[in-house]
Amino acid sequence: AKTEGKDTYRYFEASMGAEARDKRVMEHELRQAVARQEFYLVYQPQKEISSGKMVGFEALVRWRHPTRGDVSPAIFIPVAEDSGAIGQIGEWVLTAACEEAARWENPLTVAVNVSAVQLHNTNFSRKVHETLLNSGLAPGRLELEITETALVKDMPRALATLRQVKALGVRVAMDDFGTGYSSLSNLRAFPFDKIKIDGSFIKSVDKNGQVAAIVRAVLGLGRGLGLPVLAEGVETLGELKFLDAEACEIGQGYYIGRPALIEEFGDLTGVVAPA
Ligand code: C2E
Ligand code: CA
Ligand code: CA
Ligand code: CA
Repeated sequence: AKTEGKDTYRYFEASMGAEARDKRVMEHELRQAVARQEFYLVYQPQKEISSGKMVGFEALVRWRHPTRGDVSPAIFIPVAEDSGAIGQIGEWVLTAACEEAARWENPLTVAVNVSAVQLHNTNFSRKVHETLLNSGLAPGRLELEITETALVKDMPRALATLRQVKALGVRVAMDDFGTGYSSLSNLRAFPFDKIKIDGSFIKSVDKNGQVAAIVRAVLGLGRGLGLPVLAEGVETLGELKFLDAEACEIGQGYYIGRPALIEEFGDLTGVVAPA
């Protein structure tokens, strides 16, 4: 295309939507954001539903953009995945989460999201190992949240990587369960330790019979496979009560606790009982 001259190039530029231009700017900014220390982590509580006992936190990345303010990961993570910047960002997240968790007074679990690109990096399990050694975090306190979409890109490789991180003593949770396209075969093929039902199935689960049937089926699946089930996106007491009555093991969501800086959780022993 270069040889076609600058008129062609200008035409291409003019036909590019504002969205594509924004994306290019964001890609550029994301590549510098780690070095500029623009990322930080917030943590969302995960609690045992029957007792209200805190069991862990999910680390959620935040980007404090110098002029645009906080940008949602729902916006910048997909851009970072496309541009390759996710490798560096994901490493920062893993390191920061392990270092911070190693300093907590309570030895709770820290759950870290792993993107497809990160998982398929040849060095992933070695990086996890190094991060554990450098931070001093006990491997059993780290849980990696992996979506099905991340697995299907290259299943043999994803399986090998999951086995390697599990051999370190790290646990793996299937994230966003129910939103992928072959959940059941993936559950059989990969050595998951936990199922996280996506928040879209928890919304109004206490009021919608169809959604309730799906959630009951997932809970049955978890019991049959011997895997604890975590329900994310719990927003109301009604939803929490439904999950308690159906013996869902773990809950996460605004009703249970909003994501916040770790300092805001005090001694990390706060208890919220379902009823
Ligand atoms: P996710 O892994 O499904 O994380 C749960 C999202 O739901 C978080 O959004 C959380 O703040 C939000 N949430 C929690 N409780 C509730 C609730 O009761 N109701 C509703 N409506 N939402 C709730 P957030 O922090 O904006 O993150 C969005 C997505 O970005 C995450 O979805 C995850 O896929 C991705 N993400 C976040 N942090 C990271 C990261 O460090 N690495 C990677 N690769 N992805 C990340
Ligand atoms: Ca997650
Ligand atoms: Ca989700
Ligand atoms: Ca997700």
